[in-house]
Amino acid sequence: MIAVAPIRRLPQVVADAIAAGEVIERPASVLKELVENALDSGARRIDVAIEGGGLVRILVADDGSGIPEGDLELAVERHATSKIAVADDIARVRTLGFRGEALASIAAVSELRLTTRTRGSSGGASLHVRNGEVLARTAAPGAPGTRVEVCELFAASPARLRFLRSVATEASAAVRVAADLALTHPEVAFTCRNDGRVVLRTAGGTLRDTIRAVIGARAERDLIDLDAPGPIAIGGAISSPHAHRATRSGLVLIVNHRLVHNRALLAAIDEAYRGLIPGGRHPYGVVTVDVPGESVDVNVHPAKREVRFSDERGVFSVLQRACWAALRSAPALGAGGSVPSVLANGTLEVRDAFIVGRAHATSRPFGPASWSAEPADAGAPASDVPPMLPALDALGQVGSGFLLATAGDTVVLVDPHAAHEKVLYTELVARLRDGVPEASGSQLLLMPVVVECGPDRAARVADEHDFFSRWGFSIEQFGPGAVRCTAVPMSAAGADPEAMVAELIERLDERDSGTDERRHRLAALVACHAAVRFGDRLDIVAQQRLLDQLVATPGGTTCPHGRPSVLMLDDAMLRRAFRRPPR
Ligand code: ADP
Ligand code: MG
Repeated sequence: MIAVAPIRRLPQVVADAIAAGEVIERPASVLKELVENALDSGARRIDVAIEGGGLVRILVADDGSGIPEGDLELAVERHATSKIAVADDIARVRTLGFRGEALASIAAVSELRLTTRTRGSSGGASLHVRNGEVLARTAAPGAPGTRVEVCELFAASPARLRFLRSVATEASAAVRVAADLALTHPEVAFTCRNDGRVVLRTAGGTLRDTIRAVIGARAERDLIDLDAPGPIAIGGAISSPHAHRATRSGLVLIVNHRLVHNRALLAAIDEAYRGLIPGGRHPYGVVTVDVPGESVDVNVHPAKREVRFSDERGVFSVLQRACWAALRSAPALGAGGSVPSVLANGTLEVRDAFIVGRAHATSRPFGPASWSAEPADAGAPASDVPPMLPALDALGQVGSGFLLATAGDTVVLVDPHAAHEKVLYTELVARLRDGVPEASGSQLLLMPVVVECGPDRAARVADEHDFFSRWGFSIEQFGPGAVRCTAVPMSAAGADPEAMVAELIERLDERDSGTDERRHRLAALVACHAAVRFGDRLDIVAQQRLLDQLVATPGGTTCPHGRPSVLMLDDAMLRRAFRRPPR
């Protein structure tokens, strides 16, 4: 028989330890709370030290306001805060903290020493707490400000310890938090030491200065400024298209000076790069969003990691437009117009066509007048257009592969398949976005194709009938285990319909990451099937038509999968390669 245990009220110490788990997961969370407190206190300097991954010791010292001596015990009590007084204050909160939980939570699972002195007072005081119990309070000399030392974190919570990663991993997570917080307040001078070694030092200056200190001068050089003022103001700096990273973790999102995680906004940024950087790669940088305090709810996560916007879609689109505008005006190819691909010994090494030539030449005196011709730009909303190519004149085809063209005195090589793919893809996406009537842009097949795909998939295709017809496909179930396609999008008229439909159906099974993602994926698939093959011979008229279409396509320097479609060798590069003096 199961013994029925009586219900008991937990002692405060136990209750606190349980609650602490929500706020304090790992050393990095301690560091975050302590540094946020320091920032809230108006500090201009914050010094952080981590030892043994933060499990041995974490120290955060600031030169901020300090805590009045009489409040010392209160500071480490749960739900004790100087930052809000009534519930309504939460909606107006400007400080990073407001829950009054952090110090209590940390004190519940460590040995904590809090030493502080306010500016006016003659001397300071120090409080020593272990696992939630105040052990001692002493007078302590020292400069104004606060110093919190946390030792033996989780020593009395073996369960928590088991979930931690290696000392090195915990240390690096903690350092990352310090760096990210430094970015939220670039005007504050930070130092962070890990096991005695300085791993981060910011001087307290502009955001760009702080970014440089955090990510290094090289990575910083590849950033382009974001600058969109307004009620929803966007700032910071994001990587230009030729610089990208394997993971998404290089993007720091800051909302009203608060470090946050927000999937939707990160996706908005990622999406702005679609077609500009290779698939599976990600931009990096720091994006700041400033909105009126009342339009964002910061009280939705115990560790305040997430925020909720009253108008998330609005923020999403403003952010995306700001990214587009920045990317569009960036020297998309090669930072500052440098030509890193031409090596000093004169050989030409092409690592990635992104890094040669430049896409957006209107703003600089570069090449003949034709460079500034931007046909697609004329009618399109200015901020929505990624980098454009200059007008291209077809010269011919190399064998049955690359197209050779010129743009003024720049030699241009074009991958016809990648270029055509991009043109078709862009058309398809625009068609869907602008809600072109279904019938137009659809091509009836003289010979409908039947694709055997099994009953499950056939049923799914039937479910997706509307989705497909918006594209211009007409696909319907044809018996229990097959579908029949009677029309394809006009742009895909050149494709082998059977292979295309078969692949479309196969892709239906892929886990969907939202309709937008899917829309782009299917557009890329259709474009890939419909585009001219690499190896197809094109006559000069077809070549010129393709080049004209490419020039009119935003972001035409890459195919939808992010592979380059264009390689530009400008006059300066050629001169360098042939060791001719520059003009
Ligand atoms: P919260 O930050 O949510 O108010 P905390 O538990 O983090 O709660 O801190 C409790 C209180 O202790 C704060 O409201 C603040 O008054 C005081 N405090 C904590 N750290 C500092 C600091 N570094 N400088 C000045 N005051 C501090
Ligand atoms: Mg706090």
